[in-house]
Amino acid sequence: MAVTNRPIAVVTGASSGIGAASARALAKHGYTVVGGARRVDRVKTVLGTSGLALELDVTERESVDRFVDEINKRYGHVDVLINNAGGALGLASVADANDDDWTGMWKVNVFGLMLMTRACLPLLRQAEHGHIVNIGSIAGFETYKGGAGYTAVKHAVRAISRTLRLELNGEPIRVTEIAPGLVETEFSIVRFKGDRDAAKAVYTGLKPLTAEDVADCIVFAVTRPPHVDIDEIVVRPVAQATTFQVSRKT
Ligand code: NAP
Repeated sequence: MAVTNRPIAVVTGASSGIGAASARALAKHGYTVVGGARRVDRVKTVLGTSGLALELDVTERESVDRFVDEINKRYGHVDVLINNAGGALGLASVADANDDDWTGMWKVNVFGLMLMTRACLPLLRQAEHGHIVNIGSIAGFETYKGGAGYTAVKHAVRAISRTLRLELNGEPIRVTEIAPGLVETEFSIVRFKGDRDAAKAVYTGLKPLTAEDVADCIVFAVTRPPHVDIDEIVVRPVAQATTFQVSRKT
């Protein structure tokens, strides 16, 4: 087992966007970061020598088990789990949406988050103080036309965070949900299946959040004293009043 005095932070979806920015920020704040994603080469580039990059598909039980086994062998515990891997697929109405988008969103945002959480809990229990940070969204308590598949799964993330708080009450494990509004990452490129013009339009005429803005919130939550549980942080661009009411200067 590797000996390290630094706390261990596990970040899913560390190859891009919020996960990559959080991995970098946590490394700067003294954490040994284990980053996972399917594009492991990108995680290696993100982490450099400041952490460990491992291949991870959160939707596959075997991949999750392999990833967590490796962390167990190397460190024997996890201080912070950032359940970040996720995203949206499509923007079709309930009448027109396709099955694969719905099941794809459920698998990564809900099933994957639960698989990771269950697999990491024994290691979080080995830490002096554990912390689970779930990346939700304002879509976890707001709705918009064409968003049913995504709002449903982010509402579910909120439900899981709240359930975990009940189930872990009495243990030194904190649960935080970070709920961002518009953040310019690869999120919209994935949602619009590689259509970069459609993705760009989402952020046109306003200053969206950056992945680093959200990483700041994560660092704030995890660096509070261990008795302080930041329940939830909602963070949006000033120009965004709701998921669909956004002021754009053209
Ligand atoms: P992003 O740039 O597209 O990053 C998504 C990350 O998730 C990538 O690293 C991707 O890695 C990973 N991922 C996707 N499927 C995965 C799987 N099956 N197994 C492991 N990793 C997987 O988007 P982002 O904006 O940073 O999104 C991060 C989180 O923030 C998501 O949960 C998203 O729903 C949430 N969020 C985003 C916004 C926004 O406006 N951007 C707003 C609110 C909430 P690989 O493809 O390499 O596997």
